[in-house]
Amino acid sequence: MENITLAIIKPDAVAAGNAGKIIDRILQTGFKIRASRIIHLTRGQAEDFYAVHRERPFYDELTTFMSSAPAMPLVLEKSGAVEEFRKLMGATDPAEAEKGTIRKDFAKNKGENAVHGSDSDENAQKEVAFFFAQSDILGNF
Ligand code: ATP
Ligand code: MG
Repeated sequence: MENITLAIIKPDAVAAGNAGKIIDRILQTGFKIRASRIIHLTRGQAEDFYAVHRERPFYDELTTFMSSAPAMPLVLEKSGAVEEFRKLMGATDPAEAEKGTIRKDFAKNKGENAVHGSDSDENAQKEVAFFFAQSDILGNF
C-alpha cells in the first residue's frame, strides 16, 4: 500500500469552487484517482477522523470546520504517494507553504487549508477504509 494515499479536498476549497482546479493539479502531478466521493461529514465523523488530535487546542475548531459543508475524499495512487502528496499539498499554514503547492494557492489559513493528506502508509490505509469500501476502489493493490 506504499503507493496509496488518502486526500480530502476540504470544505473551504469545495465551497470556493476550487475542487476542479485542485483535482487538475493532482492529475498533472502524476497521481491516479482510484476512488472519489463527496460527503458532508457529521460532527461525529469529523471527530472520529481527526481523533489523533483530540487533545489539541484546535480540535473543536477543526471538527466544526470539517463538518461545516461537503468535502471530497480521494484515494490517490502514485509511487511514494504519501510523501509525494504531502509535497504537493505544502505546509499546514499557507503562509509557510512553498510556491506551486496546493495550500499556497488555495488555502485561506492554517485551519481552513484546502486539503488533507495522510501522514504515513499505515494511516493512509486506515483513512482509505474510513471513507471507502474495498469494492469502491479501482484496481488491485
Ligand atoms: P492534515 O492532517 O489535514 O493533512 P497537516 O498534516 O498538515 O494537515 P496536522 O498537524 O495533522 O496538519 O493538523 C490537522 C489539521 O488541523 C490541519 O490541516 C488544520 O486544518 C488543523 N490545524 C492544525 N493546526 C492548527 C492550528 N494551530 N489552528 C487551527 N487549525 C489547525
Ligand atoms: Mg495531519
